[in-house]
This record gives sequence, structure tokens and C-alpha cells, in this order.
Amino acid sequence: MNGEGLASWIRHAADLVSADAERLTRLDAAIGDGDHGHNLDRGFRAAVGALPGDAPPGKVLIAAGRAIVSKTGGASGPLYGTALRRAGKALGDARDVDAAGLGTALKAALDGVQDLGKAVEGDKTMVDALAPAVAAYEAALADGSGLAGCVRAAADAAAKGADDTVPMQARKGRASYLGPRSVGHMDPGASSTALVLRALADVAG
Ligand code: ADP
Ligand code: MG
Ligand code: MG
Repeated sequence: MNGEGLASWIRHAADLVSADAERLTRLDAAIGDGDHGHNLDRGFRAAVGALPGDAPPGKVLIAAGRAIVSKTGGASGPLYGTALRRAGKALGDARDVDAAGLGTALKAALDGVQDLGKAVEGDKTMVDALAPAVAAYEAALADGSGLAGCVRAAADAAAKGADDTVPMQARKGRASYLGPRSVGHMDPGASSTALVLRALADVAG
């Protein structure tokens, strides 16, 4: 996948986030402050506006991440922005990213989110979508899948990971203030992470 492929991902993710913003905000209204869809919609629009023309994949992701950090409020802005910037740094200056390279970038994104937010799996956050996505990607890669197959496996695992947050009690972020009352609702950040990875699977073919 080249820089234009990654830019297509950011544009498609922005479209999916925008179409689903109300649903994401409703999820956040149940266990947070009801702004997640709005925050991400604003962030991804800014990312689309900041996409450089004819740049290598790493530069595309770093530009998108920077725009998201600077334009997105809440906890999710710095977390998404860090994820994209760290993924971009992992890609370096290569003009084309293969399945192994994208796997390294996805893992770097997860590490960035965990370094910043200190959440582990089971805390009912976006980590509960991203960590299984990384594991599924690496398993598909080890099985010999190409880039598109690996991304599909990651997107499927992220969707399941988001569903699996429903019975969890939140231990990080605003939802943790609710204690046991956070149980029974899907984590909005895990749900949006699944959506953004679905967008990547869509463009990967
Ligand atoms: P805010 O909670 O500041 O209003 P958002 O509503 O945009 O921000 O984002 C909330 C989401 O951010 C949560 O659903 C969760 O997935 C994610 N989140 C919050 N804190 C953390 C953290 N420490 N680590 C990982 N993800 C987190
Ligand atoms: Mg919120
Ligand atoms: Mg907020």
C-alpha cells in the first residue's frame, strides 16, 4: 500500500465516523459525557484537511495524527493522534508498505495508546479493540495472509473486541467514574476503533 492508499483510508474512516457520529455519541452518553462521535468527527475532518499530496505512507499518518491531536477534544484526541503518529514513525520513509510493515505500524499504534493512557485489556477502552486486532493481524501474517487478509482479520477481531467490552466495568477514562454502572454498555472508543479498522479493511480490498 502506498501513501495514497493510506490517505484513502483516512478519508474513508472520516466518512464512516461522520455517518456513525450520532451512534458513537449515544454510546458515550450512556457511560461518559456524550461527545465521542462529535470529537472524532471533528478530528478526522481535520486529518483529511491535513493530508499531504504525494507523500510516503509514514508522512501521511504523521500528518493525520498531528491534525487529530490539535483539533480533537477529550481523551480520545491525544490517544488517536498518538496511535497514528507512532504508526507513521514506524513506517519511516518507505514509499510502499507491505503486510509485515503494516503489522509493525499497528503494533506501534497500540504501544503508543498504552504508553499514553496506561490502559490494559479488560479496562473497557479502545485497547480492548486494538489489542485483539494486533494479535489477529500477527496471527494472519504468520499464517501467510497478505496485507488485505491481515487487515480483515484485524478488523473482525476489533469488532468482536468492541462487543466484548459490554459486560466489562470501566477502569480508565470517564466511564470509570461510574464504577459498576458502566457495565452493560459498549465502550465508545472501542467501537470507534473497530470502525476505523473496518475502514482500513475496506480500502485494503
Ligand atoms: P472524553 O472521555 O474525554 O469525553 P471521548 O468521549 O472522545 O473523550 O473518548 C472516550 C473514549 O476514550 C473511551 O470510550 C475510551 O475508549 C477512550 N479512553 C479514555 N481513557 C482512556 C485510556 N486511559 N486509555 C485508552 N483509552 C481511553
Ligand atoms: Mg466523551
Ligand atoms: Mg469529553
